[in-house]
Amino acid sequence: MITVRFAPSPTGWLHLGSARTALFNWLAARHAGGRFLLRIEDTDQVRSDAKFLDEILEGLKWLGLDWDGELVYQSRRFELYRQKAEDLVAAGQAYREGPAILYKVEPGRTVEVEDMIHGTITFQTENFKDQVLIKSDGSPAYNFACVVDDSSQGITHILRGDDHITNTPKQVLFYEALGLTLPKFGHMPLIMGPDGAKLSKRHGGVSVREYQNEGFLPEALANYLILLGWTPPGGTEILPLAEAAALFEIQDMNDVQAKFDVQKLKWMNGEYIMKQPAAALLPLLRGQLARDGFDVSRVDDGLLARIIEAYRVRIKTLREFGELADFFFKDDFAVDEQAREKFLGPAENRSNLREFAARLERLDIFSPDRIEAVCRSLAAERDLKAAGIIHPARLAITGKTKGAGLFELMEILGRDRTLARMKGAAL
Ligand code: GLU
Repeated sequence: MITVRFAPSPTGWLHLGSARTALFNWLAARHAGGRFLLRIEDTDQVRSDAKFLDEILEGLKWLGLDWDGELVYQSRRFELYRQKAEDLVAAGQAYREGPAILYKVEPGRTVEVEDMIHGTITFQTENFKDQVLIKSDGSPAYNFACVVDDSSQGITHILRGDDHITNTPKQVLFYEALGLTLPKFGHMPLIMGPDGAKLSKRHGGVSVREYQNEGFLPEALANYLILLGWTPPGGTEILPLAEAAALFEIQDMNDVQAKFDVQKLKWMNGEYIMKQPAAALLPLLRGQLARDGFDVSRVDDGLLARIIEAYRVRIKTLREFGELADFFFKDDFAVDEQAREKFLGPAENRSNLREFAARLERLDIFSPDRIEAVCRSLAAERDLKAAGIIHPARLAITGKTKGAGLFELMEILGRDRTLARMKGAAL
C-alpha cells in the first residue's frame, strides 16, 4: 500500500507551494487507495506556533483535503530521535561534540537518487560536511528526524518540493546507516512567479488565506494548483479533486518549473463560480460581503439571490461581486467621474433622464420588459438611440458604465430607489 505524508513546519501561513505539495500527496494516496498522513515538524520551538498549525490544518480542510490517522508531532518524539542517534554513536557511525551528535560522512562516495520526477540524480559525499543529528539544544536536525519518522510511519513515497533535493542524499545516508528501507523520492519543481523567480510576496499573495480572502473558491484554487506540475491526460483543465484523483500518476508530473498565472487562476475561479448553484453561492457571497465591509444584514436572501443571478457570470472572484454590485448595498456608491461628465453633463441627457423617470413613476408594472418599452418609446419620440437614455440612467443608478442588463437591475433595485437615483442625477 502506498503511504505518503505532508510534513508542514508550523512556522508560517500555508504557502501556495506547500498547499500544492499537500494536494499532490493527497492525490497520490487517494488514487491508489493508500494513506495520506500528516506530520507536524515543530522541532523549532521558538518559531513554531499553534496559530500557524491551526491555520495550516484549516487551509488543508478548506481545500478539500482529508488525512488518515492521528497527527504526529515531532516535538513529542525527541527521545526517539536521541535514541536512534545514540545507536549510531554506539555503532561508530556518529560521534558527540558536546551535547550535539554528528554523523560521520564517509568521503569519496557517490549517492544516487532515483527521482520519480527528475530521473537519476547523483551526489558526491566529498562536498558534505559531517551531518548534525541532534543539535546542542537537544532538538533533532530536520534531515534526521525526517528519516526516523518517514521510516517509522511507513512512508513509501516522498513527494516534496525541489528545495529539498539537496537534503535527499543526506537522508539516504541515514537510511543506510540505520539499516532502513529507502522510500521512493520525487521532487517537484517549485512554483515560479511570472518573472521566472521563485514565487514570493513581491508577486502578490503567497498564502492560501490571502486567496481565500480575495474570494477564490477552494475547488478552483485546488484545481489550479494541481495543474502547476501535472498535465492531466487528455489535457482537461477543469478537473475537481475527486476526478483528478482517479487520473493522477506521480510519473506524469512535470520536471519543468511551473509559472503561477493569476489571470488563469481567475479564469478558472470564474468557471467554478458559474457552475455553483445559487444556493451554494449565497452564503459564500454573504460572508465575502461582510468581510469586505458591506452591511447586508437587511438584504434578504431572496433579493440577494436575484442580484447574484444577475452577476454570477460577470465575476471572477467573490470579491468582485461586491465591487460590481456595491450600489445595491449602499446609496453612497462611487461614481465614475469621467463618465458623469460625459453622460450626465449635457442638459439634454438630464432632461431625457427626468422624463424617463417620470414615465417610470406612472408605469403600472415595474418589470424589465415594461421598463424597456418605456425607454424605447421615449427614445423614438425624441429621435435618439436607446443607448442615449440607457447610459445616463445606468450611471445614475449604478455609478458605472457597465454591468448587468439595466432594466433587470432597475427591477431588482426597486422602483423607489431607482427613481430617487435617476431624479437625483438629473437635477
Ligand atoms: N517540514 C519540511 C518543510 O516544510 C518538510 C520537508 C519534507 O517534506 O521532507 O519543508
